[in-house]
Amino acid sequence: MSQGTLYIISAPSGAGKTSLVKALLQRLPDVVVSVSNTTRAPRPGEQDGVDYHFTDKSEFERLVENGEFLEYAQVFDNYYGTRRATVQKELEAGRDVILEIDWQGARQVASAAPEAVKVFILPPSSAALRERLSARGQDSEEIIERRMRDAISEMSHYDEYHYLIFNDDFDIAVDELQAIFISRRLRLEVQRERHAGVLAGLLESGG
Ligand code: GDP
Ligand code: ADP
Ligand code: 5GP
Repeated sequence: MSQGTLYIISAPSGAGKTSLVKALLQRLPDVVVSVSNTTRAPRPGEQDGVDYHFTDKSEFERLVENGEFLEYAQVFDNYYGTRRATVQKELEAGRDVILEIDWQGARQVASAAPEAVKVFILPPSSAALRERLSARGQDSEEIIERRMRDAISEMSHYDEYHYLIFNDDFDIAVDELQAIFISRRLRLEVQRERHAGVLAGLLESGG
C-alpha cells in the first residue's frame, strides 16, 4: 500500500481553516486531521482529544524533552505541537494527514518532510477576518485584537506555501481545497502503485 500524503494548512486565526478542513473531511475518504497538543485553555464546546489534546505546560515540556514532537511552536501566548508518532502511523496506513499549524511549525515540518504539500488560506479582506473572529463568538475582544495584530505577521508568510486559497465564498473554497487533494492522488507515481493490477491487465498482449 502506498504512503499517504502529508498536508500542512496554515492561515491567520479566523480565516476559516478549521471549517474548511471539516467540510473537506465530509467529502473525501482516507484523510485525517492531526490533533495537536496545546497549552491553551479549551474554548467553550472544545473537547479534549477531539479539538486538541489539552496539555499543561510541564507535560508539554516533558514531551519536548523526549523528542516526541515533529514540530512545536509558540503561537500567541501558548505552545502548540504535533506528535510525530501519530502522524507517522496514519501515513503508513495510507491515509493523508492534515496538519493545521502555524508558519513556524510549517517550516520545521517542511525541513523534516520536504515532500509535504503546503496550503495557505487567506480571508478576502481584513474587515472580513475581523468579522469572522467576532462572529465565532468564542474569544474576548482583547484576544480578537491580539489575533488581528498577529494575523498580519502570519499572512506575510503566504509565499512559503505551494497553494493559496482565498476563502471568500465558502463552497468555492472547499471545492478548491478538494481539488488539491484529488490532483495529488492522480499523480503518476500514486496511480501506478494503486492500480498496478489494472495497468498490467491493460498492457497484456492479446487480451
Ligand atoms: P484558530 O486557528 O483561530 O482556530 O486558533 P487555534 O488556537 O486553533 O490555533 C492557534 C495557532 O496555533 C494557529 O496559528 C495554528 O495554526 C497553530 N497551531 C495549531 N496546532 C498547531 C501545531 O500542532 N503545531 C503548530 N506549530 N502550530 C499549531
Ligand atoms: P480558523 O480555524 O482559521 O481560526 P474558523 O474555521 O474557526 O477559522 O472560522 C472562523 C469563523 O468564520 C467561523 O465562525 C466560521 O463559521 C466563519 N467562516 C469560515 N469561512 C467563512 C466564509 N467563507 N464566509 C463567512 N464566514 C466564514
Ligand atoms: P487557536 O488557539 O485559535 O485554536 O489556534 C491559533 C493558531 O495556532 C492557529 O492558527 C493554528 O494554526 C495554530 N496551531 C494550532 N495547533 C498547532 C500546532 O500543533 N502547531 C503549531 N505550530 N501551530 C498550531
